[in-house]
Amino acid sequence: MAGIMVIGGGIAGTAAALALHKAGFEVTVYEAHPRTGEDIGAFLTLASNGMRALAQLDAAEPIAELGFPVTRMSVLDEAGAQLAAMPLGEHDHPLTRYRCLRRAELGAALQREVERRGIPIRHGARLAAVTESATEVTATFADGSSATGDLLVGADGLHSAVRSQLDPAASAPAYAGQSVFYGYTTDYPPRGEAPDRITMVRGSGAAFGYLVSPAGETFWFARVPGAPLTARELTGTTPAQWRDRLLPVLRPDRTPTAEIVAATGDRLMATNALHLSPGARWHGGGRTVLIGDAAHAASPATGQGASMALEDAVVLAKALRDADGTAAALECYERHRRPRAEQNMTVSAQLTASRSPERATPSGDDAPPPARDSARPAQRVDEELLRLLDWETELPVGGGPAPQ
Ligand SMILES: Cc1cc2nc3c(=O)[nH]c(=O)nc-3n(C[C@H](O)[C@H](O)[C@H](O)COP(=O)(O)OP(=O)(O)OC[C@H]3O[C@@H](n4cnc5c(N)ncnc54)[C@H](O)[C@@H]3O)c2cc1C
Repeated sequence: MAGIMVIGGGIAGTAAALALHKAGFEVTVYEAHPRTGEDIGAFLTLASNGMRALAQLDAAEPIAELGFPVTRMSVLDEAGAQLAAMPLGEHDHPLTRYRCLRRAELGAALQREVERRGIPIRHGARLAAVTESATEVTATFADGSSATGDLLVGADGLHSAVRSQLDPAASAPAYAGQSVFYGYTTDYPPRGEAPDRITMVRGSGAAFGYLVSPAGETFWFARVPGAPLTARELTGTTPAQWRDRLLPVLRPDRTPTAEIVAATGDRLMATNALHLSPGARWHGGGRTVLIGDAAHAASPATGQGASMALEDAVVLAKALRDADGTAAALECYERHRRPRAEQNMTVSAQLTASRSPERATPSGDDAPPPARDSARPAQRVDEELLRLLDWETELPVGGGPAPQ
């Protein structure tokens, strides 16, 4: 294969570039944003399965230098009573531990790794159109330039232009039923919280999570059910106004959440949780394929979006390496990835719906509380997944059931 164009230099796109390059393909990444290093603010937890996928790309070590590890989780109810405490993920090894880090930090580190390996990345290249023929695919960018290759990988996120090109009737991302607030503060005096622990609070009005970094900075998020924030609210609300809006939701509970938010200054933001519906088309005429959020964006409740994107990258590259021809490879990639990615979408949507205060049963719910509130099936790093991700193991390219 002569050339693969990866559209989007975020988590999925950079990981795909690393994986495809490792598999011996010629790859170029096209990223819409200029190289600004701009920090969009949000943090994420990268789960053990995501770290496993990065290890297959020889990229776990640079990422493990960022942020801080998280090895335990505790769950509190609205009265501040501990419902559960448990180890999180594959905590025994430093390279498979959950990590908490800023999303922009992760993206920038992966872009650096792409550049370090000599893979071209063009910034300021916003895809506008895709044209496929029997022999090639052409990407046309908003600035009028174009590029041609054998395969185009759409890794351009939730609002994917590639997805719209592949299927003009594809559903747009929809509001998942919660707004998400994020913040960072160094002014919350920790109450003995260990730096490797995430605390999830099943509050009466919000699902809240927080971590205290080794440097004493508290990272927190709150997912609040209700009507979506309007475009005007999203652009015209100050951090102090967001804080004033969130505090009354948290104050009725006897947990540290209101105190943490009250101690947060300007580093506080809010967004709507959006997701796609399962069933979108992932590839078309044999020369365009979707990965990451472009294919299967889930609401944030399971905390698996980045890890799923990293898994996609490994499996797509292995499929192109091991299958007989591009069309067979894309079928193989989809067969192995769709059930797992869509299960994550479904679980995340269910968790999002069940976190509404009316339906939350914080004291009566004795099911094991999951991670990042959390979604089990997607987080299990089982033997089958390990084989699927393992770079040295050939991908089963024939028919038959795909692993969940
Ligand atoms: C509130 C919130 C909390 C989250 N928390 C977590 C968490 O804790 N753990 C976790 O694993 N995941 C989390 N996620 C999800 C995670 O951030 C995404 O799943 C992940 O970023 C998907 O990676 P991606 O590369 O597919 O998309 P993105 O990271 O969005 O990257 C897409 C890239 O494509 C570029 N692009 C867009 N359009 C074009 C175009 N037309 N042409 C060229 N380039 C383009 C963009 O600039 C961007 O760089 C969260 C998401 C949200 C919204």
